[in-house]
Amino acid sequence: MALNVVMLGPPASGKGTQAVRLAQARGIPKISTGDMLREAAQRGTEVGLRAKALMDRGELLGDVEMIAIVKERLARADAAQGYILDGFPRTVRQAEELDRMVQRNPLVVIDLAVPDVELLKRMQTRRVCGTCAAIAEPGSATAVCERCGGELMTRADDSDEHVRQHRLEVYGRESKPLLDYYRGRPTFQSINGAQAPDMVAKELATKIDQMVGVASGKRA
Ligand code: AMP
Repeated sequence: MALNVVMLGPPASGKGTQAVRLAQARGIPKISTGDMLREAAQRGTEVGLRAKALMDRGELLGDVEMIAIVKERLARADAAQGYILDGFPRTVRQAEELDRMVQRNPLVVIDLAVPDVELLKRMQTRRVCGTCAAIAEPGSATAVCERCGGELMTRADDSDEHVRQHRLEVYGRESKPLLDYYRGRPTFQSINGAQAPDMVAKELATKIDQMVGVASGKRA
């Protein structure tokens, strides 16, 4: 059975970090809508440039456009055995469409819960690779990416205090309702994302195995 995971959680809750680790461990792709949009912006495509203007202000892209992008991505061959979605869905409408796209396989939905003060601190100190988009180890003093040697930098939407705060507001208004949308499902779990990344990864792996067991009718 394909493993389809959705990582929910506010900005800087660790979705990207955990999605990479999980994707590597399970041999399935991590699909990050934020990374896809930043790549499109770097390539200078029409969608990318429009996305960049919205991202830099901490606003969301429209649902119709986002849904089309994800639909196309999930249809590619490498997603046939499953995927980890990072940053999608971000609205209830996106979640409803995702349910229609994955009718045959249960979605495993993980929420990473982190208090706002910690999120703001993480956004302020987070550094990412300008070449491969990898997220640098928090607190590390190195100026280059461990994965590809690219230059580490601050994300444009992390560098302005007002935008950082606004992203949390947008999350509360647009994305938090997703928790109510998914909460009643046996394949939904909330995890304390304020723990050390290794602890989060361990809890995540255990909970996913339990939930997949439940979903396929096995004893967990
Ligand atoms: P992220 O890297 O997930 O923090 O996403 C960065 C930015 O990309 C967000 O602040 C939005 O502007 C945009 N974005 C990413 N995913 C979505 C989505 N599912 N719906 C709307 N906008 C998105």
